Formats: sequence, C-alpha cells, structure tokens
Amino acid sequence: MELVHTVSWMKQIGGKALREDRVLGLVPTMGALHEGHLSLVREAKRCCSPVVVSIFVNPKQFGPSEDFSKYPRALGADRVALEQLGVDYLFAPPAEEIYPQGFRTSVFVDGLSDVLEGRSRPGHFRGVATVVLKLFEIVQPRRAFFGRKDAQQVRIIKQMVADLDLGTDIVVRPIVREPDGLALSSRNAYLKPEGRRAATVLHRALAAASREIASGELKAGHLLSMIQRTIATEPLVALDYAEIVDVDTLEPVMALRKNCYVLLAARVGGTRLIDNALVEQTGDAFRVTI
Ligand code: AMP
Repeated sequence: MELVHTVSWMKQIGGKALREDRVLGLVPTMGALHEGHLSLVREAKRCCSPVVVSIFVNPKQFGPSEDFSKYPRALGADRVALEQLGVDYLFAPPAEEIYPQGFRTSVFVDGLSDVLEGRSRPGHFRGVATVVLKLFEIVQPRRAFFGRKDAQQVRIIKQMVADLDLGTDIVVRPIVREPDGLALSSRNAYLKPEGRRAATVLHRALAAASREIASGELKAGHLLSMIQRTIATEPLVALDYAEIVDVDTLEPVMALRKNCYVLLAARVGGTRLIDNALVEQTGDAFRVTI
C-alpha cells in the first residue's frame, strides 16, 4: 500500500486510473478505523481496482464547541488494517493540502442540510459536502463507498453528485453493529463503561419500533412516543431527536409510507451518537432493516 500525502500526487494516481479505464473505488473516512469502515473497504476491494481509502479529520465539519481536537487519531493502526485488506493507496493529507491559506469555497446542498443532524450541528453538512467534493475532484473515483449509519450524509452526497453531474456511483452499505446492537462509531471510544452499556438503548428502541411495525403499527406518532419512552428508561441517555422521515425529502411523515428512515440522535455523557433504521415497503408489508 502506498501512502499519499499530497493533492498533486493523488490527482496523478486518480487521473491515470481514469485514463486506463480502471474502476477506482474511494472509501472516505476520518480514521480511527473500525469494522464499519472496514466493511466498506472490503466491498470496495470486491468490485474496484485500485482502492483508495482517505483518512482526513475534516475541520470544516466540526462546530466550534465540538470534538475536533480530541477526535481519535490512529494512523499507525489504521495503516496496518488497510494494508492487511490489500488497499492500494491510503490518502492522508495534512489540513493545509485540502484547505490551503485563502480557501473560500463551500458546497451547500439546500433543503437537506439544515434539518435533523444539520439543525443540531449547524454548518456540519456544508463541511461534509465541501470535503467530499474536494476528495472526488482529487481522487476521481468511479465508485465511492458510504455507510447507512450516516443516512442523511448519504442523501446529501447523492444529491450533490446528481446536481453537479459528478458521475461517481455512490454505494451504500449496511450498519455494522457490536454484538449487543450498538452501532460501531469512532466516538464509542469516548464512552465510559456505564455510558457504553446505556448506549445500547438506541438499538433497543429501534428494535422495539421494528416489532411494532411488524405487528401493523404505521402511525409515526405512536412509534416515536414508544421510542421516546424506551430511551427515557436510560437516565444516562439524553435524546436529541427521534424522527421518521421520507428517505428522499428527509421530511417527517405522519404514517409509514414507501421508504422511510427512523432516525435517532442522543447524547451519552458528552458523546453524541446517531443511529437509524430503514423501513421499506414490499407489497403490503413493511420490512425494517436496523
Ligand atoms: P467516519 O470516519 O465516521 O467519517 O465514517 C466514514 C464512513 O464509514 C462513512 O461513510 C460512515 O457512514 C461509515 N461508517 C461509520 N460507522 C459505520 C458503521 N457502524 N457501519 C457501517 N458504516 C459505518
């Protein structure tokens, strides 16, 4: 695996792959890699060559009072894990490479960026869309791999790709969870043992909602109050929001219809966690994927 630190060298590698008509796959990450990230890398390896993984803790997607400075960084261990999976290039630029002095441009995907996570984290998705567009311009991937764990992020990136004719296929992969249901996240490392135990309530709430849906409950209000009651049983967990939204518009729905997300965000101590379930209509039945 080759370690790439500069934009100019990464552009040359990406450009060459494009000219040779190779299917370059990009997995953008902020590092501190876990099985969720590695599941994306394995899928990229299965269908792309070469595979590029980027590790960049993007300062523009963190608010002023958020955890940018303490966000876990583990380049040494990440490098070993990626090498073992046969990744071809690890792109790990310093911040000045991505945002040189005088950088001014940003990307804002209207209508999808100020709701849900965007309401709680103003500016977050402007930072995400900006860095993803930069990465796409630099690496020039045919396919890019993202986790459904960040469902709103995926929706915004797909919109950006369509609106700007970027031509990159966006591949979305399932949420990888711990055996007790907690969605893997680099931020789980912040949790103290009691918080770690309490955090499983997010998954328990989604599983309870899934059972209600299986028994025919379609009203969003009913499902959400059950989720709120479940989460309230854990005093260490403070719900930020629970919403059931249309997968395309991200607008709240009154009752389940075709495809929806049940989206949760909560604080456990100082740690913000998100999770979700995908609800898909198949005939008269609704299938829930957690
Ligand atoms: P991050 O490093 O948090 O920016 O995440 C990089 C990519 O990994 C994003 O596309 C995430 O959605 C994805 N990801 C993070 N956690 C998980 C998980 N538990 N399962 C699947 N994908 C994940």
